[in-house]
Amino acid sequence: MGQFLEWVTRLNYDQYRFADADSRRIRNHELIGFLVGLGISPVRKNAVGFSFEGRKIEHLSWGRGPVSILLWSQMHGNEPTATLALLDLLSFLHQEKDSPFCQWLSGKVTLHLVPMLNPDGAERFTRRNALGIDLNRDALDLVSPESRFLKAVKDQVNPVWGFNLHDQNPRYSVGSSGKPAMLSLLAPAFDRERRDNENRLRAKKLTGFLRQQAELRIGPHVGKYDDAFGARCFGDNMQKWGVSTILIESGGWYQSPEKAKIRELNFRLFLAAFEAIASGEVDQFPVEWYETIPFNGPLLPELKLERTFLADRRVAEPVLTDLAINYPPMNDLVTGKEQMVGVIADVGDLHTVPSMATLDFSSWILEPMRANFMPMPVTTDVVKRSVMEGIDTFFYPAATDPKRLKSQIALSVNLHREDFHFDHNTTSLLPGERASFRILDKATGEVAAIWINGFEVYSRERGWQQGVPWVMPNHVRALEVEL
Ligand SMILES: [Zn+2]
Repeated sequence: MGQFLEWVTRLNYDQYRFADADSRRIRNHELIGFLVGLGISPVRKNAVGFSFEGRKIEHLSWGRGPVSILLWSQMHGNEPTATLALLDLLSFLHQEKDSPFCQWLSGKVTLHLVPMLNPDGAERFTRRNALGIDLNRDALDLVSPESRFLKAVKDQVNPVWGFNLHDQNPRYSVGSSGKPAMLSLLAPAFDRERRDNENRLRAKKLTGFLRQQAELRIGPHVGKYDDAFGARCFGDNMQKWGVSTILIESGGWYQSPEKAKIRELNFRLFLAAFEAIASGEVDQFPVEWYETIPFNGPLLPELKLERTFLADRRVAEPVLTDLAINYPPMNDLVTGKEQMVGVIADVGDLHTVPSMATLDFSSWILEPMRANFMPMPVTTDVVKRSVMEGIDTFFYPAATDPKRLKSQIALSVNLHREDFHFDHNTTSLLPGERASFRILDKATGEVAAIWINGFEVYSRERGWQQGVPWVMPNHVRALEVEL
């Protein structure tokens, strides 16, 4: 074990967490502002690159050691978790610059950070750059300025180690365990046969060590990403170009859109990796730690309601079933603000389908909510009465300003302009529909709770939850994020 591993493992993360950056919707100008605010010393700024739309791509360096380590994040604009972790790392390097660890490390390694490779994509929160090109398919053609910059930095700093930092679909599971993958790792292949050479073997050993380190904190929630050779991808080509490359894919956790724990995990794994590299321990790690990481398994539904009774209006008696709900992000049509919207992912016997979270709903009857016209005069109390009767979506007159309605109603109901086409099913909870239902006590028939868009707005015990109405897109689609 390296001499500083224990110190690194016991760090109090909250002390270094760069709290100003609290949103995964971080944009380039914010990142650049944060880098100024961090008081960059002892980190050095190198020549910047420019994105297609002229945004700055930063390249920061730290340390004077002979072993060069290159970390690049957010080549996919909507995959920012590691960018925030790199800010935490910079905050750590600044605060601990006089610590024995940093003094020691800076003589062993030189860190090179490219914290946001695709600022145009980050601006739009899209995977691709402004040209529509996926930078991770551009490692050979290098038609995008962002790809050229990464390649130029690589050629300039000649890294021994590379960290390719992404977010994957947050619903991946680990192998056949049915457990969510908070993190997936990979030492990418450099050829179709997925052979080993010296630098990939070293990458595997370090990756296996990171798996051990991660599992000590989060348990068996670490998967291995697809290891098929991606001839156009940066990680695979870095490996091919002789850089021992490690892919870190931040995964997900139940209703954790900001991924705070996973961000912390990234930060901790960076430090553990640097320690292992600088201490020369990497070669001692058994490759089995890597080879035994289970591959990513099937995508999990986020929430499963088990053994509930569905009161579909077309049948006389409630039907015994399970329900799965996903929470894709959607934008409010008026404010553009994003929120998670619970959408039915599956209905039927789901006892063989693992999920990120499960609730026993065997005491309840679910009754789908309906749409109706806005009750007048509009007040929260009047709307509550309608919700209690089973309405989750209100048609409002075309002449009414939805912003005014949003400020008048302190409840998370759906608003829909009356003259806009409305195509939602209002009789059942079919896959793709919003997860809005009254929860009736099976014994008494009383309203025990009401969920709108997958969230509780009322319960007998807790009363009403304050909220803001949402103006929803007409077509509710389970937006699978392409990651
Ligand atoms: Zn990615």
